[in-house]
Amino acid sequence: QEPKHDFTEHPHELSKIKKVIGVVSGKGGVGKSLVTSLLAVSMARKGYETAILDADVTGPSIPKSFGITTKADANELGIFPVKSKMGTKIMSINLLLANDTDPVVWRGPMIAGAVKQFWTDVIWGDVDYMFIDMPPGTGDVSLTVFQSLKVDGIVVVTSPQELVSMIVSKAVKMAEMMNVPVLGLIENMSYFKCDSCGKSHAIFGESHIEKVAKDHNVKVLGKLPIDPRLATACDRGAIELFDGEWLDETAEMLEEVGL
Ligand code: ADP
Repeated sequence: QEPKHDFTEHPHELSKIKKVIGVVSGKGGVGKSLVTSLLAVSMARKGYETAILDADVTGPSIPKSFGITTKADANELGIFPVKSKMGTKIMSINLLLANDTDPVVWRGPMIAGAVKQFWTDVIWGDVDYMFIDMPPGTGDVSLTVFQSLKVDGIVVVTSPQELVSMIVSKAVKMAEMMNVPVLGLIENMSYFKCDSCGKSHAIFGESHIEKVAKDHNVKVLGKLPIDPRLATACDRGAIELFDGEWLDETAEMLEEVGL
């Protein structure tokens, strides 16, 4: 069994981070980055200082969805996150690479090292809620994140076309091993609401998320529809303008968990 995290890595001395929430998924493409962005925006709208640590180093998509075109500055004290238009602080490998389209062809330990540096060498300043866009799955980078950063809770993003029960089992077991609570599940691409007929359609079949959640004794925090406007907002760098109440309950829960 993996050792429980021992908090060996301290954040930068100029960082005061109150809560750290890891956003995980079983595989890529289920909307983990989208949910990470929406959670940060939701908490920023409530007046909190928010941050996103993009640990999905081989598929970094956070800067683009926030429309960030500048690079991170650094000085002898450390690296500065880039602030989004509405003030969310962001650090991602794409803010450090000269060319966004360069692939990151690093092996696991290098990737994990970069993520650790996002924690130890980035001057985050005051942050109420930091969201970590984790790499998909339960690989070595995820383990490093859980072992070296002080994660307060995880949110699991699933979609109905997956083997949700297995993914949730794995996430719950990993969280238990790392002694981190699972705050709940968010089902993405849960349904499609048709503008013309007004009905909701279960594109990937009926969802089993409620049963899976019950079986694993975790909560369903929210369900997001398939909505082309969300994809367009990510593409255009306008995710901060999203309009929808799907994650309001999740945001309230985060507030209740407290700082
Ligand atoms: P992951 O981080 O899990 O790899 P992303 O959040 O990057 O997944 O989402 C993958 C793609 O699907 C992106 O282009 C995103 O804009 C799109 N997408 C995700 N969720 C939705 C949704 N609910 N409706 C429409 N498009 C979505």
